[in-house]
Amino acid sequence: MALPRIDSPKYELKVPSSGDLVEYRPYLVKEEKILMMAMETKDQQQMIRALRDVIAGCTDGKIQVDTLAMFDLEYVFLKIRGKSVGETTKVGLKCSSCDHKNEVEINLDEIEVQGEVKKNAKVALTDKVGVVLRYPTVKGIQKQLSKQGGSDSEVTMAAVASAIESIYDENDVYQTEDEKAEDVINFLDSLTSSQFKMISEYFEDMPRLRHEVKFTCGNCKEKNTQTLEGLSNFF
Ligand SMILES: [Zn+2]
Repeated sequence: MALPRIDSPKYELKVPSSGDLVEYRPYLVKEEKILMMAMETKDQQQMIRALRDVIAGCTDGKIQVDTLAMFDLEYVFLKIRGKSVGETTKVGLKCSSCDHKNEVEINLDEIEVQGEVKKNAKVALTDKVGVVLRYPTVKGIQKQLSKQGGSDSEVTMAAVASAIESIYDENDVYQTEDEKAEDVINFLDSLTSSQFKMISEYFEDMPRLRHEVKFTCGNCKEKNTQTLEGLSNFF
């Protein structure tokens, strides 16, 4: 006899970079197992792959996970997790005054992506030449991780290169997808430091999953205010 199937409840979230509303369900026990196994490896590529598969499953394929910015991926996962295992989680935070480790409860529902989403940011490098930037996508980041083994500076360069959507001059617009990867790197290498800085500032201003936590230390009673950033801090 067929056993009963339980329908999952449905919720709705807003993808930070696009503003798209997407319906999702909590993750299931079998999906939680995939996540736990990936977390245990501490391998970034495996973790991203697990997050990607779980998000695709929970949104019934309605989100093109590969094209999400990393902050989208983190945010979407946090919302799904909130409905799957509970909206509060306990994190261990060290007191800034006495180093005592406090267990602090945070509400995952209150965590938002902070910072302005700048789409198709145009950066004029000279009066004729410039670039149009986009946030590195999940796919782009995975590509870089697979190339790791290269030096840090090479990885940074590859990250910056993957954020360049197009390069323009007075005659034309060159989509980087149509160009060779090394040609884009050569273009970056040919910039002055101050021009390169104009591009890297876009990264520094990138929206982030960020949450301010206030707690009173259980040991010394010092009042702490700390900022949590990035997904790994919310586990
Ligand atoms: Zn303390």
